[in-house]
Amino acid sequence: MAGMLYLVPTPIGNLGDISERCRRTLEEADFIAAEDTRVSLKLLNYLGIKKSLVSYYEHNKAFKGNVILERILAGETCALVSDAGSPAISDPGEDLVRLCAENGITVTAIPGPCAVITALSISGLPTGRFCFEGFLSTAKKSRKEHLQSLVGETRTMIFYEAPHKLLSTLEDLAEFFGEDRKISLCRELTKLHEEVVRTTLGEAIERYTANAPKGEFVLIVDGAAPVEKEVPTAEDAGAMVKRLMSEGLSRKDAIKQTAKALDLPKNVVYDAALSIDE
Ligand code: SAM
Repeated sequence: MAGMLYLVPTPIGNLGDISERCRRTLEEADFIAAEDTRVSLKLLNYLGIKKSLVSYYEHNKAFKGNVILERILAGETCALVSDAGSPAISDPGEDLVRLCAENGITVTAIPGPCAVITALSISGLPTGRFCFEGFLSTAKKSRKEHLQSLVGETRTMIFYEAPHKLLSTLEDLAEFFGEDRKISLCRELTKLHEEVVRTTLGEAIERYTANAPKGEFVLIVDGAAPVEKEVPTAEDAGAMVKRLMSEGLSRKDAIKQTAKALDLPKNVVYDAALSIDE
């Protein structure tokens, strides 16, 4: 019988955040797949667990994924850990989950530390609707396209960023979203120097120009204000049908074109067209 894949979240800064279930899963797994075996070894030493570790990271994931899959298919249970936080969120675990799922392996995720959710919850910005955008690409074209696609985004947006790229990212965010857009910069979460700076993009740029940013960051950016869409009235529809007909369109085509242009059901436009005849 095939084994299983467990996704085991690990602390993002505070070792006390490892749960009892995570500890037990690491202890009982046949082997542990780790993004950086040196980082995970420190955690295992802290927990007093001795276990066989397999490295699984961005540059060996294609080959190692299949090795791990074969072992699970042969009946072993694998616990997957990333350097910190929840495996598969902005790390190569995503590919291993897909590979296992495609091969009928049961995948179970243990809930636990995750930088996105920790940051969002203390950001002070709306949490009802949000979108996680991960790391922005460093390639100019795809970075621009990504930001352009978010210009009208009304949900709260979440980005991961490394400290040495923070300033240029803030400048790009300000270029696309405006300097007045609210941002919460969540730094060194769960660590000694945890800090949340709730400010605007413009002020954040000033702040980190004056003092170079240090530590790990999650950026929570307020969504765009919703654009009030004007709802067309029956009079608008009637007037448009009338104008199109005066330009030579048949009544049927004028109704069709008006319904499409004003995003109204055809029967509503039809009724509006009748009322202009009366
Ligand atoms: N899988 C992880 C998770 O669940 O959050 C994220 C992995 S991603 C490669 C690493 C990024 O997460 C960092 O660059 C930073 O943006 C964010 N991050 C991780 N730990 C953090 C912390 N303690 N404080 C702030 N951001 C953190």
